[in-house]
Amino acid sequence: MSYIAEKKPHAVVIPYPVQGHINPLFKLAKLLHLRGFHITFVNTEYNHKRLLKSRGQKALASLTDFIFETIPDGLPPMEGNGDVSQDIPSLCQSVRKNFYQPFCELLARLKDSAISGHIPPVTCLVSDCYMSFTLQVAQELALPILFCAPGSASFFLSTLHFRTLLDKGLIPLKDESYLTSGYLDNKVDCIPGMKDFRLKDLPDFIRTTNPNDSMVEFLIEASDRFHKASAIVFNTYNELESDVMNALYSMFPSLYTIGPLSSFLNQTPQNNLASLGSNLWKEDTKCLEWLESKEPGSVVYVNFGSISVMTPEQLLEFAWGLANSMKTFLWIIRPDLVIGGSFILSSEFENEISDRGQIASWCPQEQVLNHPSIGGFLTHCGWNSTIESICAGVPMLCWPFFADQPTNCRYICNEWEIGMEIDTNVKRKEVEKLINELMVGEKGKKMRQKAMELKKKADENTSPGGCSYMNLDKVIKEVLLKQY
Ligand code: UDP
Repeated sequence: MSYIAEKKPHAVVIPYPVQGHINPLFKLAKLLHLRGFHITFVNTEYNHKRLLKSRGQKALASLTDFIFETIPDGLPPMEGNGDVSQDIPSLCQSVRKNFYQPFCELLARLKDSAISGHIPPVTCLVSDCYMSFTLQVAQELALPILFCAPGSASFFLSTLHFRTLLDKGLIPLKDESYLTSGYLDNKVDCIPGMKDFRLKDLPDFIRTTNPNDSMVEFLIEASDRFHKASAIVFNTYNELESDVMNALYSMFPSLYTIGPLSSFLNQTPQNNLASLGSNLWKEDTKCLEWLESKEPGSVVYVNFGSISVMTPEQLLEFAWGLANSMKTFLWIIRPDLVIGGSFILSSEFENEISDRGQIASWCPQEQVLNHPSIGGFLTHCGWNSTIESICAGVPMLCWPFFADQPTNCRYICNEWEIGMEIDTNVKRKEVEKLINELMVGEKGKKMRQKAMELKKKADENTSPGGCSYMNLDKVIKEVLLKQY
């Protein structure tokens, strides 16, 4: 039987090409697939090669109605073994200049395939909102387009106001001294929904002295296009970011919270989708066996995501802070985590931690966070890590690095009170003290309770009858299937 006879709707899903955007778009693609969509998931050639290496060809080709396609990213080849995140400003430039044409060509190929009956015709685009060139493609093909905001709603709202910050002369910074003079402690009162936020709590792209900063331009260009999408969905839930969502609802007619996507998938039997994963690094699953041997709530999980980097000195401060805390820990050290590439943890350190510490280069994070032995998460506060930790009810220690991470950190520590911040100038004594507070202190206990309350709300939102659950149904019926 041909696909046309089956009459499946067909969504082409395209993330911004880094791990922290691929994962939420991939989860959304899975949810749509579970609701009967044929999926074409679009990776860059660079990332797809990495995905093939980490997951294996067989796993990725296991379904006939969840297909991967690739387009070039327009960047020069990476040096070395190419298993690292690409430079973000260069990628952003390339997205603006080089992605539109190959994406149009891909859609033309998909049209030919549909005419010959191999796949159902494309019926909608589901695009990362930061791949905003897709809007023009949707308009040309008269297709509905759903933008997915992969970060927090507060990140989305603050970047919408970058133009206001420019108009008010708050950015760019006059000179470098503004970074250290206390200027960033000033309150920002021009973003409704984000009361009492300081400049330093906003996405770090504002910490620029360049009036033509390419990241600020990229985000403003994308923001200008948001209102033209058929609808926008967020990987959050209403109660988590209620003030921000209320501010956004008053600005856009068609916005939906459909998160946490992790919690959705945790509650949905995935059957034949289980082997499909989106991690670009090969997961070390031995750490799951190691966690099995540990007491409930006893392990600190340490992971700084896919892009953050640190100096060898900072690595040592974390290492000795962890060792001196006397707590058990699982630490993920990506091969490119330390600036300069190589790092050495001394034999003195190794002797000190013995079986108390486990180090791996990449792990299945959500499985780790949901393991009963995990008691706390030392994180860089990427939005996926933040929301995955909430879905697991795990409190956090925060060491934000860049992008939306300072904003997420502010919410974790001040609004939700499920975390504590480690100073940018990290010192082992502070790491040791905060780990103890997190794992066995009174404050840690309260934070754990609050994290569990947020987890419960996340589960309610994504269960039948919950707000995110109903929103997803609505988006599918009223937006994605509108012309179908
Ligand atoms: N991740 C993972 N294993 C690791 C490190 C990261 O599975 O060892 C996943 C994590 O679950 C999350 C994503 O990679 O979904 C990282 O996204 P996040 O927004 O937290 O940070 P970013 O990497 O974008 O800074």
